[in-house]
Amino acid sequence: MLIITLLISSMTSYFMNTYNVVIDDSMIRNMMQTNMKESMDLLSVKQVLYFIFFGLLPAYVVYKSPIRYRKLKPELLSKLKQLLTLALMIGVIVFAFFKYYSSFAREHKPLRYTANPTYWIYSVGNYINATLTSGELVVTPTGTDAKVVKKEKTQPKLVILVVGEATRADHFSLNGYKKETNPQLKQEDIINFPNVYSCGTSTAVSVPCMFSYYDKSSYSFKKGLRKETILDVLDHTNSISVLWRDNNSNSKGAAIRVTYEDYKTSHANTVCTDDECRDEGMLVGLDTYIASQQGNDILIVLHQMGNHGPAYYKRYPKAFEKFTPVCETNQLEECTQEEINNAYDNAILYTDDFLVKTINLLKQYDKTHQTAMIYMSDHGESLGEKNIYLHGLPYFMAPDAQIHIPALVWANDSLKNSFNLKELDVTKKVTHDNLFHSLLGLFEVQTEVYQPKLDIFNATK
Ligand SMILES: [Zn+2]
Repeated sequence: MLIITLLISSMTSYFMNTYNVVIDDSMIRNMMQTNMKESMDLLSVKQVLYFIFFGLLPAYVVYKSPIRYRKLKPELLSKLKQLLTLALMIGVIVFAFFKYYSSFAREHKPLRYTANPTYWIYSVGNYINATLTSGELVVTPTGTDAKVVKKEKTQPKLVILVVGEATRADHFSLNGYKKETNPQLKQEDIINFPNVYSCGTSTAVSVPCMFSYYDKSSYSFKKGLRKETILDVLDHTNSISVLWRDNNSNSKGAAIRVTYEDYKTSHANTVCTDDECRDEGMLVGLDTYIASQQGNDILIVLHQMGNHGPAYYKRYPKAFEKFTPVCETNQLEECTQEEINNAYDNAILYTDDFLVKTINLLKQYDKTHQTAMIYMSDHGESLGEKNIYLHGLPYFMAPDAQIHIPALVWANDSLKNSFNLKELDVTKKVTHDNLFHSLLGLFEVQTEVYQPKLDIFNATK
């Protein structure tokens, strides 16, 4: 037990010290759902040294320690003596400084998240409790009454929903960032939402929550798995085709029952270089898919690799390296703030290009469809402010950078006019909770689970 604890704790301490992350149950969920490629992005020499000096060496000492086993009674007695002495010492210390300790614990709640190894052991228990279910997983149908009722006879709808990865609102120049990170999007007629917040601080929480029937306050991993998602509701109408393409990890349970295509490897993705498959590869062949849907409404979800860290410099082709010098290591703390920002911002430039390529694809269907692109990131990212890196902090203590996300909508004139989108109030606070009902509204789906109040497109209807 001691050896296992030492080995794991050496790794948790590496990640805590390097990126200032918290090893809680959602971080463990991230680790369980990660793939080899993502892990290799994180691997470093420092990590191996941590493992050797804080894991293997002490574990070896434990392994070599002679253990003297006594008879049951003397063993129990000696253990009891030890325990009582310890309890007494702790009691004296706590009571002598009770006032100090009680206010300290209240003022510094996050401190317990950094206790190693107790917190990760506690989190493993939490994770198991929140994940494993006894018996068969029963999925409750949702919105089975759904049907499309169009208020006027219009062309079929073609909507592409881009789920972004780890982009933060304040690094989009559309939101006022000082560096021009959206040079192409700004040329388009974009409806930008500057005030959008995520459901979680990691992909494993945010993505299933975005598509879930539950809102942020009532969502949990288990509940999410047991209830059909918005994609299922759209599918129930029998007149909306749903396709999910993934260049990130997977749909985290959101697209289990709809058509799902993996674009992470060169099997499907035709735009790959040395292990890295580009988001724009997901656009290839969509015309064939769209043509085969014969007048159905269509929702295509594209799950981006986007700004997945810490190796931001790998997330864009060289041509997008406009901001230099860049941080070319996953050891973010070895780079200057400027180098980290540059690499991260270049990756946003590439997303800017990807989104405009998506819009250009939609423009080809201007005559035949009502078209729209919705872009929404899954969560934000810390880039070293107050020494915090990456994402995944517990929501209540997460900085704005991890939860304030960019989101925008592009639509062709036909769709814009029938929804009166020019009148939208974009300054209102929007969250991932709005996505479920906004998709229902956009596709004009009637169902008992639709809440017009949460539909961002409804405000002007
Ligand atoms: Zn993510």
